[in-house]
Amino acid sequence: MTDSSPTLSDQQFDLEHIWHPYTSMTNPLPTFKVKRAFGAIIELDDGRQLIDGMSSWWCAIHGYNHPELNQAVTDQLQNMSHIMFGGFTHQPAIDLGKILLDITPPSLDKIFYADSGSVAVEVALKMAVQFWSAQGKAEKNNFVTPRSGYHGDTWNAMSVCDPVTGMHQIFGSSLPNRVFVPTPQTGFDEVWNHNDIAELERTFAEQHQQIAAFIIEPIVQGAGGMRFYHSEYLRQANLLCEKYNILLIFDEIATGFGRTGKLFAWEWAGVEPDIMCIGKGLTGGYMTLSATLTTKHVAETISQGEAGVFMHGPTFMANPLACAVAFKSTQLLLSQDWQSNIQRIEMQLKQQLSVLSTLEYVKDVRVLGAIGVVELNFNIDMKILQQEFVRRGIWIRPFGKLVYVMPPYIISENELKTLLEQLVEVIGNMEHAA
Ligand code: PMP
Repeated sequence: MTDSSPTLSDQQFDLEHIWHPYTSMTNPLPTFKVKRAFGAIIELDDGRQLIDGMSSWWCAIHGYNHPELNQAVTDQLQNMSHIMFGGFTHQPAIDLGKILLDITPPSLDKIFYADSGSVAVEVALKMAVQFWSAQGKAEKNNFVTPRSGYHGDTWNAMSVCDPVTGMHQIFGSSLPNRVFVPTPQTGFDEVWNHNDIAELERTFAEQHQQIAAFIIEPIVQGAGGMRFYHSEYLRQANLLCEKYNILLIFDEIATGFGRTGKLFAWEWAGVEPDIMCIGKGLTGGYMTLSATLTTKHVAETISQGEAGVFMHGPTFMANPLACAVAFKSTQLLLSQDWQSNIQRIEMQLKQQLSVLSTLEYVKDVRVLGAIGVVELNFNIDMKILQQEFVRRGIWIRPFGKLVYVMPPYIISENELKTLLEQLVEVIGNMEHAA
């Protein structure tokens, strides 16, 4: 073992040498060292225990250290942790594929496994471009997407994120130029306003010959603003995609696996996309894995094109450990009355968060499924707020004007009560910052 900095404490080493997400290396936000996590509890190195409100960014739907998921990984480890997917296949990939085809839109028939949500989005965009080029329409190679979206951090995924709230503003003109339409305005529970779709229609009418696909997060726009919009938007968008020969891509990476109260958010609208990306909760938060699913028609068209193949093949494609735990996690979810459980969480989120909507500096409080969002009128000081949450024994990571929670589904009523009580108190005491 070499120790390059023997004089540094581990925490200091981390601060000085290890980059964390969206952080400065010279003025980093504080990090808290985690020793272990179990159920809905995260235990820090110093013994403090935090109630988890984040599911590690939507992933840990069954909580941490779940015995059945641990067992699935351990069992698979006895056979192999990884094997290349070029030229080989394996049981975990097949088992997972079968269960995924059972629970995703019936028209989806082919699965491409990838290694992260962002890569699943890259794969989806590449599929769309190859689909049109295989038909001699190479000029249909751009994308339309609504503002306030978020699709990941790789180059093309960044290009379809909201240019302002999507966290990639700094890359500006170095990103491919995409076509943005206004954020869907009609809220999830509001009366549908048909004007909401007008700009999309105009854009498609003018530019459809250059457009390969329309990409959108169904129902919930996540990291680009935590907005819940009306299902009619998706139905109308689908009709327009059909009318103008544009593929429809749903990014269900955040919304999948029950989070919104449906297994996948497309079900709110009954609209089946041509291509769908899933990730995050897929492995129950155990390791990174994603999938891009598509229809027989898209897959066959790509395969009959000049190239004859789909041009993507990550080293860790269909990693067996990840597939094994994803299969178990999905089985576990389906074996429970997950819908009642999400309703339980939803009701508690509504009950306990609603009090905040009376505060002058709170712009909106919204809840859908196991997602609770408090939108403030001002930007939050993440450093101060996060430390305050930790001091109070809860784990919530706010951003911009948003404080939001999406707890693991196994969170108990009491844990959720404490989490939300503390959250409400902290926001209630923010008056001075308004
Ligand atoms: N799409 C959506 C909707 C997401 O929320 C995210 C992650 N926040 C991604 C794509 C990217 O996933 P990953 O971080 O696994 O690359």
